[in-house]
Amino acid sequence: MTSNNDILFARAQLTTPGGVNSPVRAFRSVGGTPRFVTRAHGPYFWDADDKRYTDYIGSWGPAIVGHAHPVVVQAVQDAAANGLSFGAPTEGEVLMAEEICRLVPSIEQVRLVSSGTEATMSALRLARGATGRDKIIKFEGCYHGHADSLLVKAGSGLLTFGNPTSAGVPQDFVKHTLVLDYNNPEQLEDAFRDMGDEIACVIVEPVAGNMNLIKATPEFLSTMRRLCTQYGAILIFDEVMSGFRVALGGAQSIYGIVPDLTALGKVIGGGLPVAAFGGRADLMQQMSPVGAVYQAGTLSGNPVAVAAGMATLKLIQVPGFYEGLSAQTLRLVQGLTAAAESHGIAFCADAIGGMFGMYFSAQVPVNFAEMMASDKTRFNTFFHAMLDRGVYFAPAAFEAGFVSAQHDDAVIDATIDAARSAFEELALS
Ligand SMILES: *Cc1c(COP(=O)(O)O)cnc(C)c1O
Repeated sequence: MTSNNDILFARAQLTTPGGVNSPVRAFRSVGGTPRFVTRAHGPYFWDADDKRYTDYIGSWGPAIVGHAHPVVVQAVQDAAANGLSFGAPTEGEVLMAEEICRLVPSIEQVRLVSSGTEATMSALRLARGATGRDKIIKFEGCYHGHADSLLVKAGSGLLTFGNPTSAGVPQDFVKHTLVLDYNNPEQLEDAFRDMGDEIACVIVEPVAGNMNLIKATPEFLSTMRRLCTQYGAILIFDEVMSGFRVALGGAQSIYGIVPDLTALGKVIGGGLPVAAFGGRADLMQQMSPVGAVYQAGTLSGNPVAVAAGMATLKLIQVPGFYEGLSAQTLRLVQGLTAAAESHGIAFCADAIGGMFGMYFSAQVPVNFAEMMASDKTRFNTFFHAMLDRGVYFAPAAFEAGFVSAQHDDAVIDATIDAARSAFEELALS
């Protein structure tokens, strides 16, 4: 039987490459037909066949208060009624900048942009502009958006410069990007000893969410902080995913480490396109129009998007919000782990704030290589078994999951029930 999802997907592929506007949505990794979403509410969304799913991606993070939260929707409607975009400053942008600086103390000044890619790309340019250096360090498995300098994987040898992960990225760009192992402070020490005076910046996801969930060790981040300070390099925390997701103050508030610059996105737009980069005032003062580092955006600080972001930032400051969110996420991963164990499946899970990882492996991975060694085939079978049962996890083995404040006990327990039956199916296959 051909479903409405199949029909839409076939049509989409005629006019859009792969039928999607962002690759992971195409289900290439898990196989099958992507679900076309028609509406979403609270912890659920519905597809083109009107089937309901419990949503564990929440737009890859932004839907932290649940879909179509009435307060956020009202804020968007009110803002829209006053005009959609002006290309001139608004009070909303001032309020949002003040709010971000207050919630993330390492950010003394901030600039709003429209995507995480723009935020990290601009932070990188600022770091290079401020230091007068070209080389950057990133870590295998971290994703920082799709700017040329950041679509790079490790080269053949330790401390050799990287290879592009996309066609169309000039070798001339990637030759400035050194890719090191996540959670390997010794390697970082070696790199700085070798060429510390040439490094403009280190960019890192302090809680990695793009190779499934992998937490940094405190030692990894503190070594990074110390070396950047010692060699005059800029430390950039890419908290596009972890910001306002793992805690109100982001991963930096959990680890107690102060980066020079931070990139934000996802949650701060509450589902509309807002992202930001900010940090030390002396660095941010080097941005145009005050300084020499150029960056701009027609829709930056868009009034409707800022309204959605501000409404969301207010909702997550309700006392107990993160305690509740963390408890629900923990309930989920503990339930999933117990369900897998009862069927003898090699499975583990990890969580931090409203973010979680599931791994078909005996132990929680600490870096990209360990993550890649987990059982992808098993994940794919589990993914489809859960999808059949109305639970939507990220359609790829190496992605993190997200819980919203609307995922209450009943919602989580229904997911665990579904998982029990899915693991049983897996154990028999
Ligand atoms: C999502 C993400 C980005 C890119 O953000 P876009 O808005 O998709 O451009 C950058 N860094 C991290 C850590 C992300 O999770």
